[in-house]
Amino acid sequence: MAESKSVSSLEALQVLCEKCRNCGLALTRKTVVFGEGNPGAKIFLLGEAPGAQEDACGRPFVGRAGEVLDRLLAEAGLSRQDVFITGSVKCRPPKNRNPYRGELAACRPWLEKQLALIKPRVVVCLGLVAVQNILDPKAKLHEMRGRWFEGPGYWIFPTYHPAAVLRSTVKAELPIADLKAAAALSQMQPGLPLHPRPASSGQQLI
Ligand code: SF4
Repeated sequence: MAESKSVSSLEALQVLCEKCRNCGLALTRKTVVFGEGNPGAKIFLLGEAPGAQEDACGRPFVGRAGEVLDRLLAEAGLSRQDVFITGSVKCRPPKNRNPYRGELAACRPWLEKQLALIKPRVVVCLGLVAVQNILDPKAKLHEMRGRWFEGPGYWIFPTYHPAAVLRSTVKAELPIADLKAAAALSQMQPGLPLHPRPASSGQQLI
């Protein structure tokens, strides 16, 4: 993974990532789901991990949760062409379990490099795994959703995973409102502080 530091394009990073064997998920995956979308996106969607369908085809959010995500994006006036979508780990955990801390840590450099190359203004965390991965390992989603946090050069905006809408545990209106807010935030001029703010000081946007 050391060679990824000198990579200057997403395509070259993907080639390296697809050979990655830095954690045990490499043993059971079919494909590496690097992520896809607009390489200049201002909005970066961070999910959890590939599921069976994503593992089979190598693309993020292609199952039923992906259909919900497309609908949520459309309702917010966005499309996949406006955003970049990836997961907190790029390989499927067996039986769709949540990724372990060590797997998240092993995969983190790929995410960091994606963020460095794409330079989004807003990172929307889709679900608890993404929030805990990028913001606070002890985060509780219901406390953080709808608030924005300052990351190193981008805003971090937690919302619900589309699967929660699919399971009807969350009304679609909430992530739609969050995506609209993220879209508005992404239009704000940068000049962002370079140091993340503690989660507890996140500001209410909605
Ligand atoms: S999950 Fe990430 S760190 Fe683990 S093998 Fe896949 S790409 Fe490498």
